[in-house]
Amino acid sequence: MITLALSKGRIFEETLPLLRAAGIEVLEDPDKSRKLILATNLDDVRVLVVRATDVPTYVQYGGADLGITGKDTLLEHGSEGLYQPLDLQIAKCRISVAVRADFDYASAVKQGSRLKVATKYVAIAREFFAAKGVHVDLIKLYGSMELAPLVGLSDAIVDLVSTGNTLKANQLVEVEHIMDISSRLIVNQAALKLKQARIRKIIDAFAAATSAASSANSVLALSSRT
Ligand code: AMP
Repeated sequence: MITLALSKGRIFEETLPLLRAAGIEVLEDPDKSRKLILATNLDDVRVLVVRATDVPTYVQYGGADLGITGKDTLLEHGSEGLYQPLDLQIAKCRISVAVRADFDYASAVKQGSRLKVATKYVAIAREFFAAKGVHVDLIKLYGSMELAPLVGLSDAIVDLVSTGNTLKANQLVEVEHIMDISSRLIVNQAALKLKQARIRKIIDAFAAATSAASSANSVLALSSRT
């Protein structure tokens, strides 16, 4: 049996075409079913539906052989015991620092003030501000980070940004781009040894589908420029 851990939402939706390329069809929609283990058209492949932040844990400890998770989640969790063969180029976004439009971030940083930063990404934020030599008090939140500067809980947030619409709707502005984020395939190292042929086949199919999608995107980008 091959077990793949996925989270609901964007990663699940964007993984379906990759699974299809590997000949795998998930038989149920996780938004309509309460089941946490979803069958596929192949008797020896199943999908676990877990929280995004739990995907690395399931794969690390062998609850799943493979998983798909954002680079943000991997950096926060650490990647011990995980083989990361592929950047799948899906669920792309960036991780940024944002502040209220009326907050003078540049001056606060220049003056060496101690910044209060609210985030779910404590490890990423700590490393980023340490490298800049900015002193920060980190406030760990689990969601709706955008609210924190609006009610004076923090001066800044570190969060994922895709279109920028959520920041705009809350009168926040992006002041630093920390890094680009996309989702990675992760594999349990022991499973890779024990089920090598089957897992390799899935990795190869995902790799082929990812490179086909990225060449299709570059053709689109080129044709939209001409
Ligand atoms: P947007 O308004 O398009 O900039 O999206 C921002 C909101 O969506 C924030 O609350 C983010 O935490 C969340 N978000 C954006 N991109 C992703 C992603 N790739 N994975 C998970 N959450 C995301």
